[in-house]
Amino acid sequence: MKNSTDIDHLIASLPKDATCYGYCTTCDEVHYLTEGNSRKYALELMAELEQNKRIDFHTPDPEPIFSTDCLWEKRGGQMFGVLECVDADGNTVVLRAFSGQFNTRWQAEGWVPPTFDLEGYSRMLPKIESSVQQMTDDIESCQQKADQCTLKFEEAMRSGGRAAQKDCRRQMREALKALALAKKNRRTYSQSMLSVFQDLYQLQNFKGDQRSILNVFYEDRGIPTGSGDCCAPKLLHAAAQNGLTPLGLTEFYFGKENKASTRFHKEFYPGCKNKCQPILGYMLCGL
Ligand SMILES: [Zn+2]
Ligand SMILES: [Zn+2]
Repeated sequence: MKNSTDIDHLIASLPKDATCYGYCTTCDEVHYLTEGNSRKYALELMAELEQNKRIDFHTPDPEPIFSTDCLWEKRGGQMFGVLECVDADGNTVVLRAFSGQFNTRWQAEGWVPPTFDLEGYSRMLPKIESSVQQMTDDIESCQQKADQCTLKFEEAMRSGGRAAQKDCRRQMREALKALALAKKNRRTYSQSMLSVFQDLYQLQNFKGDQRSILNVFYEDRGIPTGSGDCCAPKLLHAAAQNGLTPLGLTEFYFGKENKASTRFHKEFYPGCKNKCQPILGYMLCGL
Protein backbone atom coordinates (compact mmCIF):
# COMPACT_ATOMS: atom_id res chain seq x y z
CA MET A 1 0.00 0.00 0.00
CA LYS A 2 1.49 3.30 -1.11
CA ASN A 3 1.13 6.54 0.84
CA SER A 4 -0.86 9.48 -0.50
CA THR A 5 2.24 11.40 -1.66
CA ASP A 6 3.40 8.45 -3.78
CA ILE A 7 -0.10 8.04 -5.21
CA ASP A 8 -0.27 11.76 -6.09
CA HIS A 9 3.08 11.36 -7.79
CA LEU A 10 1.87 8.45 -9.91
CA ILE A 11 -1.26 10.37 -10.85
CA ALA A 12 0.77 13.43 -11.86
CA SER A 13 2.76 11.30 -14.31
CA LEU A 14 -0.31 9.88 -16.10
CA PRO A 15 -0.91 10.75 -19.77
CA LYS A 16 -2.43 14.21 -20.24
CA ASP A 17 -5.66 12.81 -21.67
CA ALA A 18 -6.33 10.55 -18.66
CA THR A 19 -9.84 11.40 -17.46
CA CYS A 20 -10.53 8.69 -14.94
CA TYR A 21 -7.98 7.20 -12.53
CA GLY A 22 -7.37 5.89 -9.06
CA TYR A 23 -5.03 3.81 -6.99
CA CYS A 24 -5.77 0.07 -6.84
CA THR A 25 -4.77 -1.46 -3.51
CA THR A 26 -4.79 -5.00 -4.96
CA CYS A 27 -2.31 -4.26 -7.78
CA ASP A 28 -0.50 -1.50 -5.86
CA GLU A 29 -0.63 0.76 -8.91
CA VAL A 30 -2.76 3.49 -10.47
CA HIS A 31 -5.27 2.31 -13.07
CA TYR A 32 -6.58 4.82 -15.56
CA LEU A 33 -8.70 5.42 -18.60
CA THR A 34 -8.12 8.16 -21.16
CA GLU A 35 -10.57 10.24 -23.09
CA GLY A 36 -10.19 8.02 -26.19
CA ASN A 37 -12.85 8.96 -28.74
CA SER A 38 -15.45 9.78 -26.11
CA ARG A 39 -15.17 13.58 -26.42
CA LYS A 40 -17.10 13.34 -29.69
CA TYR A 41 -19.99 11.57 -27.91
CA ALA A 42 -19.88 14.10 -25.10
CA LEU A 43 -20.26 16.94 -27.62
CA GLU A 44 -23.21 15.10 -29.17
CA LEU A 45 -24.82 14.79 -25.76
CA MET A 46 -24.30 18.49 -25.04
CA ALA A 47 -25.95 19.37 -28.33
CA GLU A 48 -28.91 17.11 -27.50
CA LEU A 49 -29.30 18.68 -24.07
CA GLU A 50 -29.26 22.15 -25.61
CA GLN A 51 -31.68 21.23 -28.34
CA ASN A 52 -34.22 19.20 -26.34
CA LYS A 53 -33.92 21.09 -23.04
CA ARG A 54 -34.78 17.86 -21.21
CA ILE A 55 -32.96 14.61 -20.45
CA ASP A 56 -35.75 12.12 -21.22
CA PHE A 57 -35.49 12.66 -24.95
CA HIS A 58 -35.75 8.92 -25.59
CA THR A 59 -39.32 8.80 -24.36
CA PRO A 60 -42.15 10.10 -26.54
CA ASP A 61 -43.98 11.25 -23.43
CA PRO A 62 -41.75 13.81 -21.65
CA GLU A 63 -42.04 14.38 -17.89
CA PRO A 64 -41.71 18.00 -16.69
CA ILE A 65 -39.32 16.85 -13.93
CA PHE A 66 -36.73 15.95 -16.58
CA SER A 67 -36.56 19.45 -18.04
CA THR A 68 -33.05 20.97 -17.92
CA ASP A 69 -34.48 24.26 -16.62
CA CYS A 70 -33.50 23.20 -13.08
CA LEU A 71 -29.82 23.31 -14.12
CA TRP A 72 -30.09 27.07 -14.48
CA GLU A 73 -31.82 27.67 -11.17
CA LYS A 74 -30.46 28.24 -7.69
CA ARG A 75 -29.07 24.73 -7.23
CA GLY A 76 -26.84 25.15 -10.27
CA GLY A 77 -25.71 22.77 -12.99
CA GLN A 78 -24.69 19.17 -12.91
CA MET A 79 -22.04 16.76 -14.20
CA PHE A 80 -22.78 14.52 -17.16
CA GLY A 81 -20.62 11.77 -18.58
CA VAL A 82 -20.23 9.41 -21.51
CA LEU A 83 -18.34 6.15 -21.73
CA GLU A 84 -17.37 4.70 -25.06
CA CYS A 85 -17.30 0.89 -24.89
CA VAL A 86 -17.16 -2.17 -27.13
CA ASP A 87 -19.29 -5.23 -26.60
CA ALA A 88 -18.17 -8.85 -27.05
CA ASP A 89 -18.89 -8.65 -30.81
CA GLY A 90 -16.82 -5.53 -31.28
CA ASN A 91 -19.77 -3.13 -31.60
CA THR A 92 -19.43 0.35 -30.16
CA VAL A 93 -21.77 1.07 -27.25
CA VAL A 94 -21.95 4.53 -25.69
CA LEU A 95 -23.27 4.82 -22.13
CA ARG A 96 -24.52 8.08 -20.64
CA ALA A 97 -24.79 9.20 -17.04
CA PHE A 98 -25.85 12.20 -14.97
CA SER A 99 -24.22 12.61 -11.56
CA GLY A 100 -26.28 11.81 -8.46
CA GLN A 101 -29.97 12.51 -8.88
CA PHE A 102 -31.49 14.52 -11.68
CA ASN A 103 -34.07 16.82 -10.07
CA THR A 104 -34.81 14.27 -7.27
CA ARG A 105 -34.87 11.28 -9.65
CA TRP A 106 -32.28 8.51 -9.54
CA GLN A 107 -33.32 6.97 -12.84
CA ALA A 108 -34.27 8.14 -16.32
CA GLU A 109 -34.65 6.26 -19.56
CA GLY A 110 -31.54 6.32 -21.73
CA TRP A 111 -29.22 6.80 -18.75
CA VAL A 112 -27.30 4.28 -16.63
CA PRO A 113 -28.89 3.52 -13.22
CA PRO A 114 -27.27 4.41 -9.87
CA THR A 115 -24.55 2.10 -8.52
CA PHE A 116 -26.51 1.27 -5.37
CA ASP A 117 -29.44 -1.07 -4.94
CA LEU A 118 -32.28 1.38 -5.55
CA GLU A 119 -35.01 -1.12 -4.70
CA GLY A 120 -33.36 -2.04 -1.41
CA TYR A 121 -33.00 1.66 -0.65
CA SER A 122 -36.65 2.40 -1.46
CA ARG A 123 -37.72 -0.44 0.82
CA MET A 124 -35.53 0.76 3.68
CA LEU A 125 -36.17 4.47 3.48
CA PRO A 126 -39.73 4.75 4.92
CA LYS A 127 -38.76 2.61 7.92
CA ILE A 128 -35.64 4.67 8.59
CA GLU A 129 -37.50 7.94 8.19
CA SER A 130 -40.25 6.91 10.60
CA SER A 131 -37.68 5.73 13.16
CA VAL A 132 -35.81 9.03 12.93
CA GLN A 133 -39.11 10.91 13.26
CA GLN A 134 -39.99 8.90 16.36
CA MET A 135 -36.60 9.71 17.91
CA THR A 136 -37.02 13.37 17.03
CA ASP A 137 -40.45 13.40 18.73
CA ASP A 138 -38.85 11.74 21.73
CA ILE A 139 -36.16 14.44 21.91
CA GLU A 140 -38.82 17.13 21.75
CA SER A 141 -40.86 15.70 24.60
CA CYS A 142 -37.71 15.23 26.70
CA GLN A 143 -36.80 18.84 25.96
CA GLN A 144 -40.20 20.07 27.14
CA LYS A 145 -39.96 18.02 30.31
CA ALA A 146 -36.44 19.35 30.97
CA ASP A 147 -37.60 22.96 30.46
CA GLN A 148 -40.51 22.47 32.87
CA CYS A 149 -38.30 20.88 35.51
CA THR A 150 -35.73 23.67 35.18
CA LEU A 151 -38.43 26.32 35.71
CA LYS A 152 -39.81 24.47 38.71
CA PHE A 153 -36.36 24.17 40.19
CA GLU A 154 -35.69 27.89 39.73
CA GLU A 155 -39.01 28.68 41.42
CA ALA A 156 -38.19 26.36 44.31
CA MET A 157 -34.82 28.05 44.73
CA ARG A 158 -36.59 31.39 45.12
CA SER A 159 -39.45 30.46 47.39
CA GLY A 160 -39.44 26.77 48.29
CA GLY A 161 -38.24 24.93 51.35
CA ARG A 162 -35.08 22.87 51.40
CA ALA A 163 -36.89 19.59 50.82
CA ALA A 164 -38.74 20.96 47.78
CA GLN A 165 -35.50 22.39 46.37
CA LYS A 166 -33.77 19.06 46.73
CA ASP A 167 -36.65 17.25 45.09
CA CYS A 168 -36.82 19.69 42.15
CA ARG A 169 -33.08 19.50 41.62
CA ARG A 170 -33.27 15.72 41.41
CA GLN A 171 -36.15 15.89 38.92
CA MET A 172 -34.33 18.43 36.76
CA ARG A 173 -31.17 16.31 36.65
CA GLU A 174 -33.13 13.25 35.64
CA ALA A 175 -34.93 15.13 32.88
CA LEU A 176 -31.65 16.51 31.49
CA LYS A 177 -30.14 13.05 31.58
CA ALA A 178 -33.11 11.64 29.64
CA LEU A 179 -32.75 14.42 27.08
CA ALA A 180 -29.05 13.71 26.54
CA LEU A 181 -29.82 10.01 26.12
CA ALA A 182 -32.57 10.66 23.56
CA LYS A 183 -30.17 12.82 21.52
CA LYS A 184 -27.47 10.19 21.73
CA ASN A 185 -29.90 7.51 20.55
CA ARG A 186 -30.77 9.43 17.41
CA ARG A 187 -27.11 10.18 16.67
CA THR A 188 -26.09 6.53 17.03
CA TYR A 189 -28.99 5.37 14.90
CA SER A 190 -28.23 7.87 12.10
CA GLN A 191 -24.58 6.81 12.04
CA SER A 192 -25.42 3.13 11.86
CA MET A 193 -28.00 3.74 9.12
CA LEU A 194 -25.40 5.61 7.11
CA SER A 195 -23.19 2.52 6.87
CA VAL A 196 -26.23 0.32 6.14
CA PHE A 197 -27.05 2.69 3.30
CA GLN A 198 -23.46 2.78 2.02
CA ASP A 199 -23.42 -1.02 2.01
CA LEU A 200 -26.09 -0.87 -0.72
CA TYR A 201 -23.32 0.31 -3.05
CA GLN A 202 -22.01 -3.00 -4.41
CA LEU A 203 -19.45 -1.96 -7.00
CA GLN A 204 -18.48 -4.26 -9.84
CA ASN A 205 -15.11 -4.10 -11.58
CA PHE A 206 -13.60 -5.68 -14.70
CA LYS A 207 -12.14 -8.66 -12.87
CA GLY A 208 -15.70 -9.69 -12.09
CA ASP A 209 -15.40 -8.72 -8.42
CA GLN A 210 -18.35 -7.18 -6.64
CA ARG A 211 -17.59 -5.37 -3.42
CA SER A 212 -19.34 -3.02 -1.03
CA ILE A 213 -18.07 0.55 -1.23
CA LEU A 214 -17.29 0.14 2.49
CA ASN A 215 -14.54 -2.31 1.48
CA VAL A 216 -13.44 -0.43 -1.63
CA PHE A 217 -12.88 3.10 -0.34
CA TYR A 218 -9.32 2.80 0.95
CA GLU A 219 -8.80 6.15 2.68
CA ASP A 220 -9.64 6.08 6.37
CA ARG A 221 -11.20 9.55 6.56
CA GLY A 222 -14.75 8.21 6.19
CA ILE A 223 -16.63 7.86 2.92
CA PRO A 224 -17.91 11.25 1.73
CA THR A 225 -21.64 11.49 1.00
CA GLY A 226 -22.30 10.92 -2.68
CA SER A 227 -19.36 8.57 -3.26
CA GLY A 228 -20.32 6.21 -6.06
CA ASP A 229 -22.89 8.70 -7.44
CA CYS A 230 -20.60 10.56 -9.85
CA CYS A 231 -20.73 9.77 -13.57
CA ALA A 232 -17.47 7.81 -13.75
CA PRO A 233 -18.38 5.11 -11.17
CA LYS A 234 -21.93 4.88 -12.52
CA LEU A 235 -20.66 4.37 -16.08
CA LEU A 236 -17.93 1.87 -15.17
CA HIS A 237 -20.28 -0.15 -12.95
CA ALA A 238 -22.88 -0.33 -15.75
CA ALA A 239 -20.23 -1.34 -18.31
CA ALA A 240 -18.85 -4.08 -16.03
CA GLN A 241 -22.33 -5.41 -15.31
CA ASN A 242 -23.20 -5.56 -19.01
CA GLY A 243 -19.96 -7.21 -20.17
CA LEU A 244 -18.77 -4.09 -22.01
CA THR A 245 -15.14 -3.00 -22.32
CA PRO A 246 -14.62 0.75 -21.75
CA LEU A 247 -12.38 2.60 -24.21
CA GLY A 248 -12.74 6.24 -23.25
CA LEU A 249 -14.53 8.43 -20.73
CA THR A 250 -15.47 12.12 -20.73
CA GLU A 251 -17.25 14.10 -18.02
CA PHE A 252 -18.53 17.63 -18.44
CA TYR A 253 -20.51 20.17 -16.47
CA PHE A 254 -23.75 21.55 -17.81
CA GLY A 255 -25.71 24.50 -16.42
CA LYS A 256 -25.23 27.40 -14.08
CA GLU A 257 -21.74 27.73 -12.57
CA ASN A 258 -21.45 26.13 -9.10
CA LYS A 259 -21.22 28.20 -5.89
CA ALA A 260 -17.51 27.54 -5.41
CA SER A 261 -16.85 28.68 -9.01
CA THR A 262 -14.97 25.50 -9.80
CA ARG A 263 -17.41 24.14 -12.41
CA PHE A 264 -18.41 25.95 -15.60
CA HIS A 265 -20.97 25.32 -18.30
CA LYS A 266 -19.76 22.87 -20.98
CA GLU A 267 -16.29 22.50 -19.48
CA PHE A 268 -14.63 19.06 -19.21
CA TYR A 269 -13.36 17.66 -15.90
CA PRO A 270 -11.50 14.50 -14.78
CA GLY A 271 -12.88 12.26 -12.00
CA CYS A 272 -13.04 14.10 -8.67
CA LYS A 273 -10.34 13.59 -6.05
CA ASN A 274 -12.47 13.26 -2.91
CA LYS A 275 -15.26 10.90 -3.84
CA CYS A 276 -14.06 9.14 -6.99
CA GLN A 277 -10.30 8.62 -6.94
CA PRO A 278 -10.41 6.37 -3.84
CA ILE A 279 -12.82 3.97 -5.62
CA LEU A 280 -11.82 4.27 -9.30
CA GLY A 281 -8.61 2.20 -8.96
CA TYR A 282 -10.72 -0.74 -7.83
CA MET A 283 -13.40 -0.08 -10.44
CA LEU A 284 -10.92 0.04 -13.34
CA CYS A 285 -9.10 -3.09 -12.18
CA GLY A 286 -9.10 -5.90 -14.74
CA LEU A 287 -9.38 -3.64 -17.78
ZN1 LIG B 1 -16.61 12.16 -8.50
ZN1 LIG C 1 -5.90 -3.51 -9.91
